[in-house]
Amino acid sequence: MTTGQGSAAEMPEELARALAGAEARCLRAGAQLTELRRQVLALVLEAEQPLGAYALLDRLKAQRPGAAPPTVYRALDFLLEQGLIHKVERLNAFVGCVEAGYDHGGGHDHHHPHQFLICRDCGVTVEISDPAVAHALADAAARVGFRVGNATVEVEGFCAACATRPPEAAGA
Ligand SMILES: [Zn+2]
Ligand SMILES: [Zn+2]
Repeated sequence: MTTGQGSAAEMPEELARALAGAEARCLRAGAQLTELRRQVLALVLEAEQPLGAYALLDRLKAQRPGAAPPTVYRALDFLLEQGLIHKVERLNAFVGCVEAGYDHGGGHDHHHPHQFLICRDCGVTVEISDPAVAHALADAAARVGFRVGNATVEVEGFCAACATRPPEAAGA
């Protein structure tokens, strides 16, 4: 849980770099990362857990009191289209792409395989995007004559911190 008070001046360097990379990627794709889209992307990236649209709207209202649901949904659609964020269906929430901050220079990477590890305990969600997993899935599907289009794998379990925490400390 962050304080949600991050102004541009005190923005962590890592976030600033990710936003700059995202902006470059959008430009290359002929799209524009407007101030609003940038704000929504920053909120998604700085959150430690995937956030739903309404949680994002609440946070956005700190900067834009007049923001309404369509404002957020349109920005989210744009960010999804650009491959800067992903939707975790199981949580109905949005998470920054691990590659959001990287400008590959090609734009071919928008549809990289998506694999999310979701902690049942603390809700932390990690994107691994391992091509080997995607290939194994495609091979297994091909064996039954299925051609994989878009594959998003969502795995539930326990993150490293929660898996190693002694049971008595749980919920403390
Ligand atoms: Zn991704
Ligand atoms: Zn956890």
